[in-house]
Amino acid sequence: MADRTEEECALFGAEAEKVYVDHRNAKYVICPTCTEYRITCRAETKMTQLPEAYRTSISRQAQSAPGGTYLHVRVPSVAHEAGVATKALEFEYITRDQK
Ligand SMILES: [Zn+2]
Repeated sequence: MADRTEEECALFGAEAEKVYVDHRNAKYVICPTCTEYRITCRAETKMTQLPEAYRTSISRQAQSAPGGTYLHVRVPSVAHEAGVATKALEFEYITRDQK
């Protein structure tokens, strides 16, 4: 079963509830500020190296998720990282049924 933990939200620094998902490769975060989003553990580590303004913009994306969906944050696959202009992170909205 999923493990729950209380940790700082990687986006906002607020105390948030996190539930391990995907064989502990990702976390589903329930944050009082960002509402809810899912983030891979790799992306969460990377997040700590990113500017605060960028993290805030991701938080806003999570808050503006269309009804019935939540934001998924992940590190692009290795194939994408071979390019020069790499994106730090990838985002997509996922419908809750796929959780
Ligand atoms: Zn948050």
